[in-house]
Amino acid sequence: MKVVGVDIGGTNTELAVIDSKDGILKMSAFKTKASDSFAEYIDDLSCQIEVLTLEYSIDSIGIGAPNFDSKAQTFCPVNFPWDDLKPFNLKAHLESFLNIPTFLINDANASAMAENRYGAGKKYKDFSLITLGTGLGGGIIINNQLFEGAFGYAGEFGHTKIEGLDRQCNCGGVGCLETVVSANGIKKSYAVNMKEIKSSVPTQIPSVKTIFDKAKNGDKRCQVILNYTFEKLGQKMADFIHILNPEAIIFCGNIAKSMESYLPIISDFCEEQLLDDFKGKIHYGISELLDDKMNVLGPASLAFTKAEELVS
Ligand SMILES: [Zn+2]
Repeated sequence: MKVVGVDIGGTNTELAVIDSKDGILKMSAFKTKASDSFAEYIDDLSCQIEVLTLEYSIDSIGIGAPNFDSKAQTFCPVNFPWDDLKPFNLKAHLESFLNIPTFLINDANASAMAENRYGAGKKYKDFSLITLGTGLGGGIIINNQLFEGAFGYAGEFGHTKIEGLDRQCNCGGVGCLETVVSANGIKKSYAVNMKEIKSSVPTQIPSVKTIFDKAKNGDKRCQVILNYTFEKLGQKMADFIHILNPEAIIFCGNIAKSMESYLPIISDFCEEQLLDDFKGKIHYGISELLDDKMNVLGPASLAFTKAEELVS
């Protein structure tokens, strides 16, 4: 069985042909914003997918898309630069154009499906994936199936609240988890720390990678900031675990690449909050798919799952 996996990212749109036995057969990418309008982008994307379907016999197409509404089956990349943006049904468009079953999915949910089929989630049938990048997203797998919720947005762990925190979130809310536990959150913590020590030296806030590197090399301020970040994450994880009762919590995204040594902090602060029935039973781990292929493997996993359902 062969599928096309597509990831519509803010910078690049990536495409891959994936075989159920042999893995990735071909990959390509183009600059998402190279198109002059949303309509032109849809045309460019459709042509690129068509080229792959002419070269290979494709059973199904899976697409990871921002702001995908699973009920309306539309996506609308709100932060993209085009004037003609509107919710668009890419599934209907591609199915009439190519006559191949097509399925869309939100990015974080796609990552959870990829982890379940190819990565650290292979060992578990009930787990949550927490994506730590610019923001904090999540995906929930229950009995080896993605739990999407009524509209496809389930797993928005990043906008659950931390008690007593007054940080403004991009979503308009106050005190969201991602205002601490994310790249933006860590930088914010650094700025707050600078203010607290009333540093008169105007220092630029370093990159998150630099903050991790400095902490590793003994920089006390960076250690304090990262410890605070992962303590808060651990405490909040306990809420999700009490609700979902998963076997494992798996972390992915750019920040996960640096956070192995912080897993004990997360698990300590989480376990301390858990009811006795939950204690000592949960695995806290890092994704096994922290390379670029994750982007296309997620949508491809959806395409395989749907194609397998159609066959059975
Ligand atoms: Zn928020």
